Amino acid sequence: MTTKNTKPLIYKSTRGQAKELYFKDVIFEGLASDGGLYIPSIWPELDNDLISAFKTMSYQEIAFHVLKPYIDTSLTDEKLKEIIRESYMSFTNDEITPLNKIDEKEYLLELFHGPTYAFKDIAMQFISRLMDYYLTLDNKKINILGATSGDTGSAAIYGFESVKSSNVFILHPYDLISPTQRKFMTTVSSKNIINIAIKGNFDDCQNLIKEIFSDEEYKKSKQLGAINSINWARIMCQITYYFYSASRISDSEKIVFSVPTGNFGDILAGYIAKKMGLNFSKLIIGTNENNILDRTLKTGEHTIKDVISTSSPSIDIQISSNFERLIYDACKDASTVSELMTNLKNKKSYTLPTKMREYIQSYFSSDTATKKEVEETISNYFNTYKVTLDPHTAVGIACGKKQKQPEEILVTLSTAHPAKFKETVSKIISDESFVTEKVRSLDKLEEHMIIANNSSSEIKKLIDEQVA
Ligand SMILES: *Cc1c(COP(=O)(O)O)cnc(C)c1O
Repeated sequence: MTTKNTKPLIYKSTRGQAKELYFKDVIFEGLASDGGLYIPSIWPELDNDLISAFKTMSYQEIAFHVLKPYIDTSLTDEKLKEIIRESYMSFTNDEITPLNKIDEKEYLLELFHGPTYAFKDIAMQFISRLMDYYLTLDNKKINILGATSGDTGSAAIYGFESVKSSNVFILHPYDLISPTQRKFMTTVSSKNIINIAIKGNFDDCQNLIKEIFSDEEYKKSKQLGAINSINWARIMCQITYYFYSASRISDSEKIVFSVPTGNFGDILAGYIAKKMGLNFSKLIIGTNENNILDRTLKTGEHTIKDVISTSSPSIDIQISSNFERLIYDACKDASTVSELMTNLKNKKSYTLPTKMREYIQSYFSSDTATKKEVEETISNYFNTYKVTLDPHTAVGIACGKKQKQPEEILVTLSTAHPAKFKETVSKIISDESFVTEKVRSLDKLEEHMIIANNSSSEIKKLIDEQVA
């Protein structure tokens, strides 16, 4: 029951020009120096016997086996187990990511039992502890800089709360996230937490981060660390729940996972699970009206349009960063990736070569859920099953139902707790019993945030004021 590969993995950039890294360094990287994203040079495969044995293992035990092949000798098995155990202690469900069975052919994989009510906690609780371990060892400090479409920010703030040496700078699009999402971040009153509301959308926030991180000198002098979903460690942590959920469902080869998708980090982890040997049917990319990925799969044209503000703000994204990792894997050719990405930057568009599109379609299908479909789904599930959905999960279900074959088992990733979107959800179902005490109490706390223009020099100034 061991993994087939024993040598430590090397991580390479999708654009082929940045230096290769081992695990210990890659987890602190956002963007590679050539503008690409780091990706393991091979996908480690797990033995079938080990995957079968997952059926009787806990979430934490499965996590150990899934993560271990990605890690090098800088972290012992004992330390890895300890970090995993501590990371999931704050979750309110013993299963960590329990399956909610709707019927024989449908499940919800609940990823929102962490401290900030969205799936981002699963990776962030782990990464903060992992980084803290390495930083303490090397007697170093870090300042976290990240952009959020609503949920990464609070997950990072809660994750790094215990890492006392770090400042956390979080950029969110001003007025474009739900009030409860905002309050999860702005009510944490600690001097080292800086919430910055940017007058722009999430893509603007993400671009500011990319711009600041591409200034190598600045990044070094301010000891900046990235925690956005382009960070490899986040993707890695998300692989676990695909293995976990499949291990709890018989006929798991018939599963289709439907994933409400924005930056393509969550669903990419499902693709990697398949590469590691998990046998299931397909992945469904669920999008709202910001459906660049659905259009890409259907037409091959990856064309950026204006971001529309919807009831599922965490996926109001046109620049889907992690998609670059998939297109790299679909061609294994850094120069092709660089060319496509240059087109995207200069012309806001590229055409996927047919072979690559066919490769992607063999793993993924896609669909778009409209505002009306999201509302109908929330209302139906409440009336029929007494299940209250958040709008993102509703996007996943609506797209999943349109794409799944009758014999397939639909597992929708339930990415957020409905209370985090109570303003939207309570209007649709006219019921507020799903709102938890924790969320209610946020409404009574004082908020702290700075409003800033969409300008990297303004952000740098704010960082400079805080970091000597
Ligand atoms: C971040 C997020 C998503 C999208 O995940 P990506 O990895 O960006 O595709 C979906 N739903 C919720 C609630 C989120 O917070």
